[in-house]
Amino acid sequence: MQQNPNYSILFEPLTIGPVTTPNRFYQVPHASGMTEANPRIRAAFREIKAEGGWGVVSTGAVSTHPSSDDSPLPFARLWDDNDIRSHALSTNAIHKHGALAAIELWHGGAAVMNRTSRIAPYSPSGIPWAATHVGFMGNLRPRIMTRSDIQDVIAWQVDAAKRARSAGFDIIYIYAGMGYLGYEFLLPEYNLRTDEYGGSTENRVRFVKELIEATRDAVGDTCAVALRISLEELRAKPSTMYESEAHEVVTLLSDLPDLWDVKMDSSPTDCGASRFRGEAAHEPIIDFVKQVTNKPVVGVGRFTSPDIMVSQIRRGILDLIGGARPSIADPFLPNKIKQGREDEIRECIGCNICIASWHDGVPVRCTQNATAGEEWRKGWHPEKFSRPSSKDKILIVGGGPAGLEAGLIAAKRGYEVTIADSAKTMGGRLIFETSLPGLSSWSRVQDYRIHALQQMVNVVLYPANELSADNILDLEHEHIAIATGAVWTRMLYSSLEIPQGILDSDKVFTPDDLAKGGYPDGNILVYDYDNYYMGGVIAEHLAAKGLAVSYATPAGHASAWTIMTNELPFVHQALDKLNIQITTQVLLKKFSPGHAILENIFTGRETEMQFDCVLLVGLKKPRDELYHTLVNRQAELADAGIKSVTRIGDCLAPGAIVHAVYSGHEYARQLDDSPSTDTYLRDIPIAEHSPGPATRKK
Ligand code: ADP
Ligand code: SF4
Repeated sequence: MQQNPNYSILFEPLTIGPVTTPNRFYQVPHASGMTEANPRIRAAFREIKAEGGWGVVSTGAVSTHPSSDDSPLPFARLWDDNDIRSHALSTNAIHKHGALAAIELWHGGAAVMNRTSRIAPYSPSGIPWAATHVGFMGNLRPRIMTRSDIQDVIAWQVDAAKRARSAGFDIIYIYAGMGYLGYEFLLPEYNLRTDEYGGSTENRVRFVKELIEATRDAVGDTCAVALRISLEELRAKPSTMYESEAHEVVTLLSDLPDLWDVKMDSSPTDCGASRFRGEAAHEPIIDFVKQVTNKPVVGVGRFTSPDIMVSQIRRGILDLIGGARPSIADPFLPNKIKQGREDEIRECIGCNICIASWHDGVPVRCTQNATAGEEWRKGWHPEKFSRPSSKDKILIVGGGPAGLEAGLIAAKRGYEVTIADSAKTMGGRLIFETSLPGLSSWSRVQDYRIHALQQMVNVVLYPANELSADNILDLEHEHIAIATGAVWTRMLYSSLEIPQGILDSDKVFTPDDLAKGGYPDGNILVYDYDNYYMGGVIAEHLAAKGLAVSYATPAGHASAWTIMTNELPFVHQALDKLNIQITTQVLLKKFSPGHAILENIFTGRETEMQFDCVLLVGLKKPRDELYHTLVNRQAELADAGIKSVTRIGDCLAPGAIVHAVYSGHEYARQLDDSPSTDTYLRDIPIAEHSPGPATRKK
């Protein structure tokens, strides 16, 4: 296929200081949950993006010294020479495909608690960052840095930069964003210093300026020096001489770095979920940067549309199209545009499960791309598939995320695949869920897969076909995957998480009832102990229809788990905007129409409230009757030539969409393998020297 000529600007090389990127696709630094503990997993994860056409591939944050210790969150290090080889594994892999390798050197300042190294954290003026945010809370307040501390941090940056060059990196970062040390010096709220590093904007910029100068002196002859900076707060601050403090800061540093990497200030705004933020959402904050520097500018915005990318460059907003999530969801996005295969891009849905996996402390997981993080461990390549070892035919019952993914991957391997679904439209739970407020982008999960399946000659799709065990025995397929999903139950729990039986009333509804068109009326209580998006989004959905809605949960927040996906603050804002009353830390004890008893989970105190209906979002159970019926008919299965019957997705273990997609993918990759095949590789650290002191002093 031919590349669209409108997109050729995306494939123009660009000089960044002493190095040149082959194109405008720049995988900006992003957390991967991979550290020196799993260097091969990390190298393979980054390599696949270079192979997929990203011109620059970056690390996530790499700590320069033990005083920047983010444990228990996973973070990478470049503390001593022992760390060089492990990073070199990545740079060699990236270079093999003609891409540049960038490293985000990082000092966390007051945003890290140094829980392992036990060094008193560093800060300009002793003020902690995100002190009220549970995930970052610590009981230790940071030290106020002396001038000598400042010189130490600069020296550690220089030492790390030299090691980074030895490891083969081409672009070396200074980090002044997201609450970390450089950022804390820039903001007057964190920087109350009265010496030459505090006070005027010029003084507050000094620390970052010295970091850039020292890095350039150390490695600038061969490596580009990039500055990553958050501009959201600074842009909101007035300045006497400039349009804002952001304008002033960028003007003061103007051409000092070889590259500006510009972003927002906190993970929820920088890495906004699609439920609350669209593509290119950063533009109003960062649009001025190119006007005050001659150096190239990279920025992000969950870009997956080549038209929007081109527009960013043509309108002078960005020179390089930054991608973190789009590069995870589809590492081959650049090559697909280059080859005129835009319709094959597996677009990021903006669900932020990738962020949640970092918060969970594990390698990155992605809803759209089941191979992310599994390139080395399982040998899964997102675009390459092993050939089948038989001519067996595969029947998949259920066309939700699990069934569609299993069918697509089995078909890509070359199997004859049939997918049947009782519903008129394929997509399973997504058909209803993507009709809920803010979730329309999630339909990319089924749209991408259905579109791809429709192009394949070895695939038959049977919507509106409910299959019974008898039908399946007659259909002459050798492998049967049961992907029939799960149902929401009316189960209640005690404060000790012990099941308390079923809440039985025709005035109790579940999300499945709404999906089937049944609706509660009157005064509605949404009672949520699922704690992910569903309870909050259904409360929004009902309130937006003009119904009277309250929300209650045993958790401390509405949709409490969405703290992991950066959505929590916006969930509360959305519910508040619709005047939905939120009651937290309560159990629904009893309900009869017009009468509900909520009990405080800690004190047991009961409150009586009047509700006509309850919308219960709690426990899901597999819809697995068909599976059990089949496996109980072993003799007939054998007679029908059926070699395997397997549960996948929610039918096996109900979960988020990411779990269903992964389950479907794994099933199709392992088809025809003996079940005992162990494909689980375990990564180990690389060290050439015996353990020693990590850099100098402190
Ligand atoms: P998952 O998340 O595991 O993919 P979903 O609940 O999204 O599960 O999808 C399950 C799909 O299976 C639904 O579209 C449902 O209509 C379909 N389904 C359930 N039972 C049958 C059946 N007996 N025959 C065909 N399709 C079925
Ligand atoms: Fe995008 Fe979701 Fe994948 Fe993250 S997990 S890259 S947000 S699709």
